[in-house]
Amino acid sequence: MEKTIKQLSPATIETFSSQLRGKIVMASDASYDLERKVYNAMIDKHPGMIVKCVDVADVIASVNFGRENSLLVAVRGGGHNGGGLGLCDDGLVIDLSGLKFVRVDVANKTVRVGGGNVWGEVDHATHPFGLAVPAGIISTTGVGGLTLGGGGGHLSRKYGLTIDNLLEADMVLADGTFVTVNAKQNTDLFWAIRGGGGNFGIVTSFKFQAHDVKTVFGGPTLWPIEKTEEIMEWYHDFLKNSADDLNGFIATLIIPGAPFPEHLHNKQFCAIIWCYTGDMDKAEEAFKPILAKDPLFQMVGEMPYPSIQTLFDGLLPPGMQWYWRADFFNELGPEIREQHLNFGSKIPTPLSQMHLYPISGAASRVGKEETPWAYRDAKYAGVIVGVDPEPANADKITTWCKNYWEALHPYSSGGAYSNFMMDEGQERVQASYKHNYDRLARIKKQYDPDNLFKVNQNIKPAN
Ligand SMILES: Cc1cc2nc3c(=O)[nH]c(=O)nc-3n(C[C@H](O)[C@H](O)[C@H](O)COP(=O)(O)OP(=O)(O)OC[C@H]3O[C@@H](n4cnc5c(N)ncnc54)[C@H](O)[C@@H]3O)c2cc1C
Repeated sequence: MEKTIKQLSPATIETFSSQLRGKIVMASDASYDLERKVYNAMIDKHPGMIVKCVDVADVIASVNFGRENSLLVAVRGGGHNGGGLGLCDDGLVIDLSGLKFVRVDVANKTVRVGGGNVWGEVDHATHPFGLAVPAGIISTTGVGGLTLGGGGGHLSRKYGLTIDNLLEADMVLADGTFVTVNAKQNTDLFWAIRGGGGNFGIVTSFKFQAHDVKTVFGGPTLWPIEKTEEIMEWYHDFLKNSADDLNGFIATLIIPGAPFPEHLHNKQFCAIIWCYTGDMDKAEEAFKPILAKDPLFQMVGEMPYPSIQTLFDGLLPPGMQWYWRADFFNELGPEIREQHLNFGSKIPTPLSQMHLYPISGAASRVGKEETPWAYRDAKYAGVIVGVDPEPANADKITTWCKNYWEALHPYSSGGAYSNFMMDEGQERVQASYKHNYDRLARIKKQYDPDNLFKVNQNIKPAN
């Protein structure tokens, strides 16, 4: 059984504090309420202590302090996790937000990133060199959590998931040792962290392969929600027959307001958000069949890569209520399309939405056992999010999200992308890692036998 911070003596805390360059935030501090906030305002956890690490030595000291004092330990990267897995109640939060740096090796097209960076900082550093690392679609998401869970976004079809571009990581393990993991060194850990989440240690720096992406051609196309079934059927076939250069995720959503024209506001749509990374001279040609589907509205064009990466940041600032549900899907058959029309027509608040991210192209050409990310043969990673700024609407968005998910789940592939799940219990975690779960559990037993790192989509140490 874990101890709480309150059970520790002032002298124990004083000694720990003297080992740090970063600062400790306690419940009595004025900044406590600010520091314990995460992106999802539905999460209201009260840690006993937050350690704002500024270097690897702080991380090592914090891991040792947590383990030696039998504390519940949470690790916070960008703080975006839907289930609030960067926080815990009463225990120790190891906050990596001060562990930031981005170094671009232009000659080798690689990027070294701190364990606490967010993706917008990476895009900002790589863009002047015409380089990009495949990541998610919102720039404020943490590099740590997104990468360790997998990482899907606009470049997935062209260059694979974020983990497919991870070359190396530096880690602090549960016993406080510091290791470097890559394809030659600590290969079991290198395998495990490419999808297995924060279960195996704290990553203090990541090294990624970057790619030549300077400008992209993309943006949203919208059709009235009544056309959902027709557009989904067309989209599935169209993408299957398209080059990896073209990525597009399909959504049911409401247009909440500006920058979209007023006649679209507060109406439901079936939307596809495109990103083309091929030859810009051929972009208009590539979009001809899309525009031939006669979208009610389209805003596609050429833009710098960081622009598509920040396109939705303004709509989705931190501090709103978020309820998440997810599943993988192998197809978009008639029963599935019917449910998307049904629930897409009943979206309860302007920011609630459903996305289906394609797992095709380069992301699907990685073997099912090459990384823990088991669903390489699924066609879509689906996610439904109930979102609203108003806490009074929490029940409304939760109910819609759960009902939508329950209607679709029988047609799903079984598990979900771990980064799109909330705290949904052990069975769901196992279903999401499928055939790779047992190997993950064996590695967990070797490197974290007492499950120090358990505030995550937890892999229990093997018996
Ligand atoms: C608005 C929004 C958009 C999103 N879009 C995408 C998307 O396009 N593609 C996608 O793949 N995902 C997306 N996600 C999901 C995202 O990948 C997860 O929420 C992820 O957990 C966020 O990571 P974080 O570091 O910000 O979160 P945190 O809450 O800080 O951490 C999440 C988990 O990761 C662990 N962790 C974080 N950093 C480290 C580290 N350095 N070492 C060890 N463990 C660590 C934490 O302990 C925790 O268990 C999105 C999320 C949001 C809220």
